[in-house]
Amino acid sequence: MTDDERNVVITGFMGTGKSIVARQIAEELGRPYVDMDDEIVRRAGKSIPQIFAVDGEATFRRYERMLCDELSGQQGLVIATGGGALVDDHNRESMLRSGHVICLDCEPAELLHRLRGDTGRPMLWADDPEDRLLKLLAARQEAYAQIPHHIDTTYRSAEQVVAEIVRLLALGARVWSIVTPTGSYAVHLRPGGLEHLGALVRAQGIVSRLVVVSDGNVWPLYGKRVLDGLWQSQYEVTSVVLPAGEQHKDLDTVRTLYDRFVEAGLDRSGAVIALGGGVITDMAGFAAATFMRGVSLVQVPTTLLGMVDASVGGKVAVDHPRGKNLIGAFVRPLLVMLDPWALRSLPETEFRAGLAEIIKAGIIGDAELFEAFEARTSGELDVRWLIERALQVKIDVVEQDPYETGRRAVLNLGHTFAHALEVLSEYNLHHGLAVSAGTAAAACVAEQLGLCSEATRERIVSVLHAHGLPTSCNTHPPQAVYEAMRADKKRRGSTLRFILPKTIGEVIIEDGVDREDVIRALERLCA
Ligand code: NAD
Repeated sequence: MTDDERNVVITGFMGTGKSIVARQIAEELGRPYVDMDDEIVRRAGKSIPQIFAVDGEATFRRYERMLCDELSGQQGLVIATGGGALVDDHNRESMLRSGHVICLDCEPAELLHRLRGDTGRPMLWADDPEDRLLKLLAARQEAYAQIPHHIDTTYRSAEQVVAEIVRLLALGARVWSIVTPTGSYAVHLRPGGLEHLGALVRAQGIVSRLVVVSDGNVWPLYGKRVLDGLWQSQYEVTSVVLPAGEQHKDLDTVRTLYDRFVEAGLDRSGAVIALGGGVITDMAGFAAATFMRGVSLVQVPTTLLGMVDASVGGKVAVDHPRGKNLIGAFVRPLLVMLDPWALRSLPETEFRAGLAEIIKAGIIGDAELFEAFEARTSGELDVRWLIERALQVKIDVVEQDPYETGRRAVLNLGHTFAHALEVLSEYNLHHGLAVSAGTAAAACVAEQLGLCSEATRERIVSVLHAHGLPTSCNTHPPQAVYEAMRADKKRRGSTLRFILPKTIGEVIIEDGVDREDVIRALERLCA
């Protein structure tokens, strides 16, 4: 379905302005507009209060379900739903399949103000309508939270809300839902998304203090934008700015974070927002996973590597002097926001490091992605497409094996070598560049063992090389690299675990590689 064919569905609680906003969007986009409540009234030949009073709520919900089925089978519409229509799982899922679903939110106090004295709302027929409204809002919160896009309408005019939605649609925002054993979470890909975190966080039920953790490079560039967006949603926010760099991804820095969380009064009704590269998302994520036995975590990666890899999948960790990411946890984030505009300020080396992880994703599970790197120079590649494809590889794998008990290990292609190189460099070698060299080494091992052809090894090494990425491990003697590997956590008992390419798009997990084969591969790459 093209974007023009996808329906635009505006939903949310009564009083949030669904009908006005949807009508204006339809005008702006030149599309047909359907107000579900109006359509039900037309078909039933009765007003909604009459349907409720005479036929009962169940009959009204049946009308809604039939209409949802019908409308979601059509294309190019702008639809305003009734406030309760998408609380029903079936209705919500069919609308989600048919297009962009956007939930309008509003602070309860403002809603009470807007709806006071409105007797045409059967759902508020009660002795105490205010109490009824609050209870209804609470009952629907979980269903509304399943809707990918949220716009806060409190203190905003319909025109402002319409402008934000039109912009959201024009920029092609996309959302993936990642399923884990403990529930699902959304990964948003949204240009300009840094400014729109507040409504999404609030929609997830976070009501109290937020702590934004960032580093000294990222905070001056994006801190204000993030803060403005959170303030607009009435949040109290504390910021913690850490020194940048892998050398700081350790327990000493985590301890500083705990201290700052305590000072800020963070508790389990609040959340940590990690704004930065993989170092920040890993470290703030680990602190959030362990503080008070776990507070909610919002991952906002600002590097390419963070977007396609580190922030998605729920692994968080810090380094130990003896091994990379030795201390860590699995955590289900509240949500992940990828704002590709943040990549505009990314230094060239950091960008290339991200490309290494994307090429890795292609070798693991997407031959077409890999081939794009063979066919084009770095400058010719469509970064957004790369992010979407690499992300899909990661999502497919982590959904199959969320806690890395089996297949998920394939994501560690090149990492047995890479982690050793990083430890030996005292974490001065960039992770993504180490992964590049490690992937080349893994291809050599695979060829030596007869697992992949010489041509496959050559293709891998050539693509990395062509995109300005390292393919040699000559900074340390092969024996030293091997010894550092033996201290890595990916070791299983006395054997080392390697992920080796069979062909482009398929890798295998190999636990029994001889020391000689590893050393030989490293020597070949030093030559
Ligand atoms: P990083 O976090 O150190 O960021 C790289 C540099 O870019 C830093 O100096 C940072 O300040 C700067 N930076 C970040 N965003 C910027 C922006 N938009 N503009 C300008 N500068 C910016 O490194 P990284 O490559 O993002 O992440 C590497 C880390 O990710 C490693 O520690 C690795 O172990 C971890 N990782 C974790 C997972 C996981 O599943 N948890 C997966 C892959 C990698």
